[in-house]
Amino acid sequence: MASNASSRASLRSERQIPTGRVGNGSASARTKSVPPKRSATASSLRSPVDPDNADPGRVRVAVRLRPRNADDFPHDSDFTSCVELQPEFKRLKLRKNNWSSESYRFDEVFTERSSQLRVYEAVAKPVVESVLAGYNGTVMAYGQTGTGKTYTVGRLGKDDPSERGIMVRALEDILASTSAVSDIVEVSYLQTGEVSLPGAAVVELRDLDHFLELLQTGEANRHASNTKLNTESSRSHAILAVHIQRSLKGKEEKDSSSLANSSDNFSSHRVPLLLKSKLLIVDLAGSERINKSGSEGHMLEEAKFINLSLTSLGKCINALAENSPHIPTRDSKLTRLLRDSFGGSARTSLIITIGPSAKYYSETSSTIMFGQRAMKIVNTVKLKEEVDYESLYRKVENQVDSLTSELERQQKLRDADKVQMQKKLKEYEASFAEFEETFSMKSENLEKENNRLELEIRRLVEDLNNEKHQNDLMSKEIVHLKMSLNQSKEQQLENSMSQNILADTTQMYGKKIEELLKQLEDEQSRSASLEEQLNEMCQQLSDTQNSLQTQENVVDELKKELSEIHEESTSQIQSLKVKYDELFSEKELLYEELKSMEEKVLNEARQRKSLEEEVLKLNRALCDNSVELESKGPYSMTRSASGLSGAVFMPRSVKSRETISGQKDTISKIFEEVGLSNILSMLKSEDLDVQIHAVKVVANLAAEDINQERIVEEGGLDALLLLLEASENTTIHRVTAGAIANLAMNGSNQGLIMNKGGARLLANIASKTNDPQTLRMVAGAIANLCGNEKLHVTLKKDGGIKALLGMIRGGHSDVIAQIARGIANFAKCESRSISQGFRKGRSLLIEDGALNWMVANSTTFSASTSRHIELAFCHLAQNEDNAGDIISSGGIKELVRISQVSSREDIRNLAKKALNSNPVLLAAAR
Ligand code: ADP
Ligand code: MG
Repeated sequence: MASNASSRASLRSERQIPTGRVGNGSASARTKSVPPKRSATASSLRSPVDPDNADPGRVRVAVRLRPRNADDFPHDSDFTSCVELQPEFKRLKLRKNNWSSESYRFDEVFTERSSQLRVYEAVAKPVVESVLAGYNGTVMAYGQTGTGKTYTVGRLGKDDPSERGIMVRALEDILASTSAVSDIVEVSYLQTGEVSLPGAAVVELRDLDHFLELLQTGEANRHASNTKLNTESSRSHAILAVHIQRSLKGKEEKDSSSLANSSDNFSSHRVPLLLKSKLLIVDLAGSERINKSGSEGHMLEEAKFINLSLTSLGKCINALAENSPHIPTRDSKLTRLLRDSFGGSARTSLIITIGPSAKYYSETSSTIMFGQRAMKIVNTVKLKEEVDYESLYRKVENQVDSLTSELERQQKLRDADKVQMQKKLKEYEASFAEFEETFSMKSENLEKENNRLELEIRRLVEDLNNEKHQNDLMSKEIVHLKMSLNQSKEQQLENSMSQNILADTTQMYGKKIEELLKQLEDEQSRSASLEEQLNEMCQQLSDTQNSLQTQENVVDELKKELSEIHEESTSQIQSLKVKYDELFSEKELLYEELKSMEEKVLNEARQRKSLEEEVLKLNRALCDNSVELESKGPYSMTRSASGLSGAVFMPRSVKSRETISGQKDTISKIFEEVGLSNILSMLKSEDLDVQIHAVKVVANLAAEDINQERIVEEGGLDALLLLLEASENTTIHRVTAGAIANLAMNGSNQGLIMNKGGARLLANIASKTNDPQTLRMVAGAIANLCGNEKLHVTLKKDGGIKALLGMIRGGHSDVIAQIARGIANFAKCESRSISQGFRKGRSLLIEDGALNWMVANSTTFSASTSRHIELAFCHLAQNEDNAGDIISSGGIKELVRISQVSSREDIRNLAKKALNSNPVLLAAAR
C-alpha cells in the first residue's frame, strides 16, 4: 500500500513540473499563478452553508417518490396510494390502513414531478462544493428495486441533458471548477456483489465526454440480473469514487527572480499546500427482502451476499444513530468503503427512493425508517490538506541555486572593478612622474635664462657707464675746445692768418662736435632702448617666477586628488569585501535551512510510516474485539432486528407527531431492553399502570407483521384476550382491541382469535362501551375477521355480526367507516365462497339484519363508506338466494341506482352484471 502511494506521488510530481518550477523567469511564473479553467461554463458556486440546520456535519436525508407506472396499477385495489407528500412542510405521511397513518419529517421531500436538476441542486450540489473546498463527501441512494435509485444517481441523459443524474452533473461541476494544469481529477467505478471488482482502475479525467465514456463502460460491466420486481434494475451496488487534488501553491508565489530583496522574498513565501478530497456517489442494490424479489439459485446466493452488506450497513446506521460504542464497520466490504461517510469526516447526503404502491407498504416503511435513523448521524467534517513537501523542496533548491549564481556574479564584478582601479592608479602614477620630469626641466631652463638675462643686464649697465664716461670726456673736451676757441678768437684779433686757420680748425671742430653730438645722441637712445630691454627682461623674469608658482600649486592639487582616489578605491574594496562576507554567510544559512528541511521531510516520512503501522495494529485489535462481540450472539441480532422495523400502530390521540415518534423510540428501546416475554408477562401485572404501558407496547409491536408471529408464539394473544375479558379499565379495552385488530390483519391469526373466543369478547366490549375510540378499534378488528369466509359461521354464532351492526348506534363516522368495510369484506368473501360452491343459502349478513341499514344509509356517509356499502350490495345481489330480500327491502332500487350513477365504473359494471345475471332481479327492476 505504501509503495503504491509513493509511485503515484512520483508520477504526480512529474506531471506537476511545468507549474512547479519557480525562477524560470518572472513573466512565466506570474502567468501561471492564475491557472486556466477547463471550460468556459464554470458556474459561480454558492456557499455550502445550510440555513436550515446549524450542524453542518449531520447526514442530510431527502426522500423522492417515483411516478406511478404500469406495474403499480393492477395492485391498486385499495383505491389510494400508501404515501401522501407535503413538500411545503418537508413531510411525508405513510398510511398503513384506513385507521392508522404516520407522518415523518425529512430535509427535503421530492414529489413524483420533481426535476433531476432540482434533486441535484438540493441533495448533491452542497456536497460537491464542499468536496471542491477540500472536504470528503458522499451522496448515496437507498431504496427498493425499481423506485428510481439509478434514475436519480446514474442516468446518463445522452439524448436529453435535463435527464442527467447526479453522477454526470457532479462531474460537470467539478471539471468546470478545477484547473486542467494544476489540479488532478481521477475517477474509479467500482461495484460490490461479485468476487472481483471490475472497473476499479483509477483513471485521470480529461473532460466530461471522457467521463461519459467511462461511466457507460462501467454500466455495461455492471452485473445486472433480472428480478421479478424490475427487469431493468441491478442487484449489485455501484460506487463512483472521484479523487480531487488541488494545489494552493500558485496563488501565494511572488516573483523570486528580483534580486534586491531575495531573502525577504523567501521568508514571505507561504508553504505550498495540497487539498486532497474524495467524493463517493453510491447507487445501492435494492433494499427489498430476497423472498419478494424472487431470486433463485446462483442469483439467490448473490442476493443473500448483497443483502448481507445492506444488512450490515443498516446495523452500522442503527449503532451510529443510537450512539452505540461499537460500530460494526468491518462486517462488509460496503461498510468498510463507507466508513468515512457515516460517522466519519465526510459531508454526506442520502436520498431514499420510494414507490407509491400500497402493495409494497412494508418495504416503503422500512426505507423511511432507514432514512429517519440516518438523519440522526452527525459526522465531524474535516479539511483534507497537507504540505506539498515535494514542491517546497524544489522551491528552496531553486532559490539556493539562484542565490549561489548571484553570489558568483557579484564576485566576478568585484574582481573586474579591482583590476580596473589598479590599472587607473598605475596610469596616474606614470603621468605624475612624467609631469615631475618636465616640470624640473622647465624650471632649469628658466633659471638658465634668468642667469643669462642678469649677465646681459650687467653688461649693458657696464656699457652704459662706459658711454657715460666717454660722454663726460667729450663734454670736457667740448668745454676745452670752447675755451681754446675763445683763445683763438682772441688770437684772431692778433693774427688774421691764424684767423683762417682758426676758421678751418673751427669748421673742422664744429664738424667733429656735430659728429660727437650725434654719436652721443645715438648712445643715449641706445642706452634708453637697453634700459627698456632690461625692464622687459625684469618683467619676463617676474612672469616666469609667477608661472613657476602656479605650476607648483597644480602639482600639489594633483597630489591631493591622487591620494583621495587612492583612499576611495581602498574603502570601496573594503565594503565589497564586507558584502561578500555577508552573502557568503547567507549562503551558509540557506544550506543549513535546506539541510533541516530535508531532515524534516525524512522525519515526516518516518512518522507517517510508524502511524501506518499503529493503524494496522489498531485495526487488528479492533478486528479481535469485534469478533469477541459478535460471539455474544443473539442479543446483538435482536437489537438490530427490532431497530430496522419500527412499530407502526398507535391509537389516534391528540398528542403531537413528535411525541409519538419519541414514544416509538421509547417503545423499541423497551422492547430491546426488556424482551418480548417479559413485556407479555407484564400484561398480567397487578399494577394497572404497568398493565396499560405493557399493552401499549404490545399494540405497537403488533402493527409490524414481522412481530405478529412472535407475539402469538409467545402467548401474547392469550394474554390480550384474557385482559379483554378480565379488565374493567376503558383504556385497556381500547388499546387491547387495537392490538387484536392489528393481529387480525394476518390470515393465520384470524382463525386463532376466533377459536379462542375473541369474537365473543369483542362483541361483549362493543355492547358495554360507548367510547368512540374503543368502538373504532373493536369494529376494525371484527371488520378484519369478516375478510375470512371460513370463519363466517362462527363469527355469526358468536354474535360478531350483530355486534358490528350494533355499533352503528353511536353514529360516529370513523366507527361506521370500519363497519361498512366489514360488511363489504363479509359480502365479498361470502359471494366468493358461494360461487365456488362451498356454501349455499341466504346471506348470514341479511339474517342478522344488515340489509335494512344498508338500504337506508347507502348515500348518508363519506364517499369511501358509501362505496363500501355499494360494493356489499353488488356482492349480495350475486347470490340468487338473496334476491327475495333485496326486492322486499327496497334494495333493488339501490342496485339500479348503483348500476347507473355510482362514481366508480368497476362498481357500476359489477351492479349491472348482478342485475343482468338474475332474471328475478331484472324483472323487479323494470
Ligand atoms: P432502481 O435503480 O431503484 O431499481 P430505476 O432507476 O431503475 O430503479 O427505476 C425504475 C424505472 O422507473 C426505470 O424505468 C426509470 O426510468 C423509472 N423511473 C424511476 N424514477 C423515475 C422518475 N422520477 N421519473 C420518471 N421515471 C422514473
Ligand atoms: Mg438500479
